[in-house]
Amino acid sequence: MTEFEDHSPATVRFAPSPTGSIHIGNARTALFNWLFSRQHQGEFILRFDDTDVARSKTEYADAILADLQWLGMTPDTIAWQSKRFNAYAAAAEQLKAAGLLYACYETADELERRRKLRLARRLPPIYGREALKLSDEERLALEAEGHKPHWRFLLPNFADSPFETRRTEIHWEDVVRGSQTVDLASMSDPVLIREDGTYLYTLPSVVDDIEMAVSHIIRGDDHVTNTGAQITLFRALGSEAPAFGHHNLLTSVSGEGLSKRSNALSIGSLREEGYEPMAVNSLAVLIGTSESVTAMPSMDALLEHFKADFASKSAAKFDPAELTTLNRSLVHDLDYETVSDRLAELGIAGGKAEAFWLAVRKNIDFVNDASRWWAIVEDLPENEESLDGEDLVFVREAFSMLPPEPWDGETWATWTGTVKAATGRKGRGLFMPLRIALTGLRSGPELADLLPLIGRAKTLDRLP
Ligand code: GLU
Repeated sequence: MTEFEDHSPATVRFAPSPTGSIHIGNARTALFNWLFSRQHQGEFILRFDDTDVARSKTEYADAILADLQWLGMTPDTIAWQSKRFNAYAAAAEQLKAAGLLYACYETADELERRRKLRLARRLPPIYGREALKLSDEERLALEAEGHKPHWRFLLPNFADSPFETRRTEIHWEDVVRGSQTVDLASMSDPVLIREDGTYLYTLPSVVDDIEMAVSHIIRGDDHVTNTGAQITLFRALGSEAPAFGHHNLLTSVSGEGLSKRSNALSIGSLREEGYEPMAVNSLAVLIGTSESVTAMPSMDALLEHFKADFASKSAAKFDPAELTTLNRSLVHDLDYETVSDRLAELGIAGGKAEAFWLAVRKNIDFVNDASRWWAIVEDLPENEESLDGEDLVFVREAFSMLPPEPWDGETWATWTGTVKAATGRKGRGLFMPLRIALTGLRSGPELADLLPLIGRAKTLDRLP
């Protein structure tokens, strides 16, 4: 029994490297894992892939956790690969002892030269295992000259001689893409340990997946070809491989891959811009699937629509404009209780805050936009539009007919009824000048709702 052993029906992990902020594409991976784990009463592990200690930063890790929590995904377990180097070293020793991890001394230039030679001879441009031919003396001589080895995992793609590879298919039933096959003879033996002794992600990932009893590895489809080698690595370490699922990736509108460096689409910046987490979640999950992209008000609602295999096979374009559309439709239905704390932070509080929210929510894209309307109600109209000529005369006359308080939802109808009878104006000619006088704008929330919020005194202050 290890601290990670788990017998729940699905144990999944989201394994970001804390070398930058996560973007909506990373959120898609996290969400596929999280939703899958919820559907299977399972466990969701956040596992920081921080074996690159030079580039990994605690600030990034903290921000990733905060982003996940803001989106509504609280990890059941958090693990750090940088704390587990002993386990990786033990696994490397086990592989070396079995003759499955071998020392190589080629430089990058040398490998590139050989690759070109193979291509010229119409051979697949994969590593030819030349290092396996080195005798012990040759190896010692290279090391005496100061060459440090990098270490490759010997893929089981041959019968007797590793220099005579043969087609070796690895199959898996991908929980997203369905039946998948890769041929181990079409790939180079992967490097697991670099010259400087640091690990590439493959070995630590497999060691941890075994130890943490991960049952489903769900990640982007850029990892499909790695999976063949990883399945054999699981077996080489004496374990059965878990199930795999590879979802399609998101690209920018112009079709480029999203990168941790393009901060514009980071979850942190979307939060700062005021997007609702469920707008981000809805788009991050539903885009590029057989489901239509609609705003899901809660994770439970999203969960009802989620199926791991509903993702299509081609990349999906992420369009920030679509995110705003989803945000707007969520904001239009947000209850006052849900937003009251955020409104209070904007200074929107007190007896009329709830009525105010219900009056303006259908007219804004972001919760923060409520402050603009609060300022209009509380302070002064915006001065975007002004009145002149007959409209000015009309508005002054109408203001002289304002009914006494108390005002309520009927006041607008009562007032404009009186004004209509007295002036003969109707329709747009009646309402628009009043709207402009009251708000300074040509459109906005229902005036019947706004008028009692403004109140008689502040309405009279607006007399043009
Ligand atoms: N850190 C790797 C990545 O972000 C993890 C891949 C995996 O989930 O196995 O691509």
